[in-house]
Formats: sequence, structure tokens, C-alpha cells
Amino acid sequence: MLTLTFLGVGSAFAKRNYQSNALVEVWSAGPDQQDSPDDTLLIDFGTTGPLALHRLKDEPGFSYLDDNGVIRYSAIRRIFITHQHGDHVGGLEELAGITAHHTSHSEPEENPKPQLIGVENVLTNLWAHTLEGGLGVLAGRKASLRDYFDVRSLPVVQDGGPDRFALLDRYELAPFPTDHIRLRERHDWPSFGLLMTDRDTGETVFYSGDTRFDPDGLGKRMAAANLCFHEVQLEDHADPVHATLSQLRTLPAEVRGKTYLYHYGDTWTDEAYAFVAGEFAGFARPGQRYVLFK
Ligand SMILES: [Zn+2]
Repeated sequence: MLTLTFLGVGSAFAKRNYQSNALVEVWSAGPDQQDSPDDTLLIDFGTTGPLALHRLKDEPGFSYLDDNGVIRYSAIRRIFITHQHGDHVGGLEELAGITAHHTSHSEPEENPKPQLIGVENVLTNLWAHTLEGGLGVLAGRKASLRDYFDVRSLPVVQDGGPDRFALLDRYELAPFPTDHIRLRERHDWPSFGLLMTDRDTGETVFYSGDTRFDPDGLGKRMAAANLCFHEVQLEDHADPVHATLSQLRTLPAEVRGKTYLYHYGDTWTDEAYAFVAGEFAGFARPGQRYVLFK
């Protein structure tokens, strides 16, 4: 079984919800029969990620994340980074710093480094432009990303899409490029979504990451998926870098009906958005464990 729980569902600047980061859990039997999952993967860990995880550990079913009142960071085995914005990477310095402290005081097999997964240009920029400032020196020596993480850098393969990775050898996670921020043209600033596939059944789940509305680029994946999570911006904007709600309403009804919206602003409870529950699967909710594959 594969499950996904949002730590938060808010936009970058939302204050009523934490930012849109998610915890994917892999279960050989299921959360009803196991105290903790077989494997864990965070999709992004932004500025509000540590506070959101701190809260989630107190929720029923998530006590394996709790270590006497503090976050058990060793329970986070992998982190996939979609792109470099602060609401997706801003919590990594804390995670890396605390994890490095634990690993330096124990045998490597007791506290293995968490795996950091990303497409190679995302990870290169992440260290050079974001993390090196706070993590670049360790007790009298220069440090690198590999001092903190087991780095899994995914190459960009020849067809233009990056490589993929698997969990429990059954669930395949394939990043695909998204049209989020442009320097000059589409895809020239790296950002990615994830297509998750159950190799046993062929079922897929679509997770958009940050993207503009892109039915030509992403529509086929969404149409073929059993379940979709798509980012949204509630208000219209002249040149949006996110998919606006009015744009997403133009998707076919059968696609909308299986699509949860996340990455939304603080006005989501306004009466003006009451139609979302009827036209889409609804607004994704934080702390709820969505079953992706049984
Ligand atoms: Zn972004």
C-alpha cells in the first residue's frame, strides 16, 4: 500500500495552512496492521515543514514520527525535491543539521543518512544557491551535500524527461518537467511533478508539483491517472506561475472529479469557492492519509 498525507496544503505565503509538502508512506500490510511504514518519502520540505511535521507527529497513526515530544527525523528515510523555492526546500537545513548531529554520535548503520532525491540540476542549484550558506562548514572543514544526505541525483535522460526511482521495488516514481517559472522559455528553470505507478496493477497517481496550467503538457497523464493532486491558485492573475482555479475548471469533468486541489491561499473557505467540492474531488486536507494504491 502507498499512502500520501499532506503536511500542509497552503500556497507559498499561506498562513492558515502550512505549505504544500507531503509525506508518502509505503506499507507492506497497511497502517491498520503496522506501527510504522516500511519506507517514507517527503515530497518537498519547505519553511513551515518542521512545524507541520511537529504537529503531525501528535496525530493518531503518526506516533512513529514522535520521539518524546520532538520530531523523530530518523523516521524520514527519503526526500524528493520538486524545485528550489523556499516553500519546498526551506526546512531542509533543519532536517540536515539535526540528522547530521545524530549520525555523528552513532554508528552509520544505526542512523543512516536520509536519501535526497532530485533531478540533477535541481540538486546542484539547491546546494550552491540555497543550502551551502548554512551547511557549508562542519566542525573545521568544508562540507558538501553528501555529508548530510545519501544523494540520489536523477539524470535527465535523452527523451527530455529525467530518470525515475522506486519504493519497495513496486511503486515507481517518475518526475516530469513542469512549466512553473521561465527564464526565457518553457522548462528552462528546473521544476518537476511526480507520476507514481503501481507496477503490480499499472494504476497511476498524478502529483503536479508547482506548474502553470498546462493541459497540453500534463493533460494526458491526468486523464490516464486513477487519482490526481493538482496545485491551484484561487485568484486570477495576469501572468500566473501557478494554475488558476478558473483555468482548472476548464478541464474535463471526469478529470476534475478525480482531482484534489492543493497549494491554495487563505481564502479557500470563502463562499465563492464552495463549488470546488462539487466540481473537483475537493480541496485536499492536511493530516489526512490518502490511499494511493491498496
Ligand atoms: Zn514554486
